[in-house]
Amino acid sequence: MQHTVLVTGGAGYIGSHTTRQLLHTGYRVLVVDNLYSGNKWAIPEQAVFVELDAGNREAVGRLIHEHDVTAVIHFAGHIVVPESVSDPAKYYANNVANSLHLIEACRDSGVRHFIFSSSAAVYGTPASIPVDEEADTVPINPYGFSKLATEWMLQDLTNSDRINNKPASQCFNHVALRYFNVAGAALDGSLGQATPDATHLIKVACEAACGKRDQIAIFGTDYDTEDGTCIRDYIHVEDLARAHVMALRYLLSGGESQTLNCGYGHGFSVREVLGMVQKVSKKRFAVVEAKRRPGDPPALVAEKTKIHEVLGWIPEYDDLKMICESAYKWEHKLEQLHRKPGMETKAG
Ligand code: UDP
Repeated sequence: MQHTVLVTGGAGYIGSHTTRQLLHTGYRVLVVDNLYSGNKWAIPEQAVFVELDAGNREAVGRLIHEHDVTAVIHFAGHIVVPESVSDPAKYYANNVANSLHLIEACRDSGVRHFIFSSSAAVYGTPASIPVDEEADTVPINPYGFSKLATEWMLQDLTNSDRINNKPASQCFNHVALRYFNVAGAALDGSLGQATPDATHLIKVACEAACGKRDQIAIFGTDYDTEDGTCIRDYIHVEDLARAHVMALRYLLSGGESQTLNCGYGHGFSVREVLGMVQKVSKKRFAVVEAKRRPGDPPALVAEKTKIHEVLGWIPEYDDLKMICESAYKWEHKLEQLHRKPGMETKAG
């Protein structure tokens, strides 16, 4: 049976990569995206696209029936940590309230399989790294809280079906994927991150290497790490997209609800990342030292054993050089996209 998957945020960065992989694997895909930060051109032609808020319960419910949707992958959401600190209500409205409306639409229409884009931000500042899924979840910014709140809703719904003695074949199941730092682009330069006003390190560094920015700032050089800058676990977007396809297969074949880290299990400092982008681009863009950014934990690195055990996921692109090269190549391609009518990014 060919399943139809509803992908919210399918015009965005990770959503578009995942949509493409789902289509290649043989699923039908219905993309729901309000184009707040996504781009229509990033949605593969074989996907059905509806411009809509993922939190519109009635309209999403109708679409689920019309397209006979059996599973939902929920990417749509705001993702910028510093913005969540300065405008928390925006994050609770979109990431929590809209997620609830979407989950309700699924419940109303009998969709039982749900994959959620969560984040390593739920851990806050972990007591030790690498951090595993059993570690305490104590977010240090509203973005992290908004992701954790949605995880809780999903967990409570999963539990309620069991408590209410629903037959296993009718129970709601979900996989929450806790992303570490997603970066990179398709190796052939065909797809990548086009989010306007990017704030994420590798994207910003590639923009600097392409001359789109005069300089890049290092936010904090006095952390308790080897070179004083923050450490993150950077994961290639294609590996992350494949984790979603594997999670979908897992749920459709009867797997129980899971919370899984998505990272490689080792980290790089901000200085190491900037050095790598300079190396692959051969551009010595200006780097300035700035004060700490609110909401940043010093180090976040995934314990990756569980996702391997549960889904059989093995990284294919665990290589910072490859991540930075593909991101840089994509940044050049974006300039061409800007010049084509109808393909401009919102930043353009
Ligand atoms: N960072 C930086 N300069 C930038 C963007 C990010 O120094 O222009 C740092 C940021 O403070 C953090 C790390 O790079 O320590 C990763 O930040 P990013 O925004 O990419 O992802 P986050 O970890 O916040 O999800």
